[in-house]
Amino acid sequence: MEVIVQKYGGTAVETVEKVQKIANGIIQRKKEGYSIVVVVSAMGKTTNRLIELANSVSAKPDKRELDMLMATGEQVSVSILSMVLKEKGYESISLTGFQAGIKTEGTHTKNKIIEIDIERIKNYLEEGKIVVVAGFQGINGEGDITTLGRGGSDTTAIALAAKLKCPCEIYTDVDGIYGVDPRLYPNAKKLDTICFEEMMEMSSLGAKVLETRSVEIGYRYNVPIYVASSHMDKKGTYIKEFDKQMEQKVITGLTISDDILMVTINHIPYSPENISNIFSSLSDREVNIDMISQTSPNNNRVNISFTTSKENETVVDEALNEQVKKISGIKVKKDSDVSKLSVVGMGMRNESGVASKMFKLFAENDIYFKLVTTSEISISYTINASDKQKAINAISKTFNL
Ligand code: ADP
Ligand code: ASP
Ligand code: MG
Repeated sequence: MEVIVQKYGGTAVETVEKVQKIANGIIQRKKEGYSIVVVVSAMGKTTNRLIELANSVSAKPDKRELDMLMATGEQVSVSILSMVLKEKGYESISLTGFQAGIKTEGTHTKNKIIEIDIERIKNYLEEGKIVVVAGFQGINGEGDITTLGRGGSDTTAIALAAKLKCPCEIYTDVDGIYGVDPRLYPNAKKLDTICFEEMMEMSSLGAKVLETRSVEIGYRYNVPIYVASSHMDKKGTYIKEFDKQMEQKVITGLTISDDILMVTINHIPYSPENISNIFSSLSDREVNIDMISQTSPNNNRVNISFTTSKENETVVDEALNEQVKKISGIKVKKDSDVSKLSVVGMGMRNESGVASKMFKLFAENDIYFKLVTTSEISISYTINASDKQKAINAISKTFNL
């Protein structure tokens, strides 16, 4: 029997009425003859509320306990959905990540799936049951409950589909993948298909519609992914392997990340050792650096700018205060009023002049950028947050996104 994994996000299971609705969609697929594994997120904004609850008792909640707390959100939604399915006359069983055999490793709140023991799920499917699995969670080598990072239910679903060698349908509050987040650019156009490479780049550069790791797993195991609205009323977007038949736009998508802290260190005496010490002090504190640029030496001094996530601000301060004491004359400046805007497209591999077109657009619209980085299929710019909307409108219009 053919298996399908379906995933429903928080908005789709926000209320009992909405759970009733998605249950009908699940049953419809069951009637079509499929064996079904359903992965669900916590109801509505439950995860945010649980984090607030933890923050109300501790300034820095213990991460193991936070995982224990956050994982309860999905436990509520799986049991409710399973009860609703049973009420409607369908055999169903809910499973936590642990019961579903999802094994993880890494640091608490950011675990990675390393293995899935799929036997239990397979047995239930053979018995004809609809298997409802809690997204976002697993169990580590110590037997502790873990979570996979925000948005991690996508990863649960796609990893299960990879293991079951079946397609994965992601049902969310938007009816597919758009060239630009429709909340940021309401005229954005929906894509019929997008290849894994572009989706991976868009996710990692800030398009939260799919969690980055989930797309990586999809790419690695070639899982056909379909993203659509949980209302199932409109055709969604297929994510699949790149093939030459796909419409090759130079720019397929634009993404924005507002979670950017830009740090500039001026007047660094030019020596590889100083630069190494600065970045070691950051990496020792597990600060992930994103963009980096360095000016050429002037009077034997250089300036370095880098970006990182805003959540690292306190540790960045700690690391750089230490360096200010050690390296004479350096000055640190921080700017959190910036956004990272990226354009993504497979067509960039063969087409030159995209950067120049973008520079022209910025010039025409009087938009100043601070840092630029490129990959084979993307270009990213750090711009003032106040110019964000102007830049989105100009680029989306010009490239018909
Ligand atoms: P879920 O709770 O179902 O996982 P998310 O909020 O994580 O849903 O993801 C869906 C949201 O992703 C949409 O509401 C939309 O605003 C946002 N989004 C960001 N970029 C895009 C894009 N390029 N196309 C579609 N949606 C996008
Ligand atoms: N409930 C989790 C979160 O809000 C996981 C998910 O929704 O994918 O991040
Ligand atoms: Mg999500």
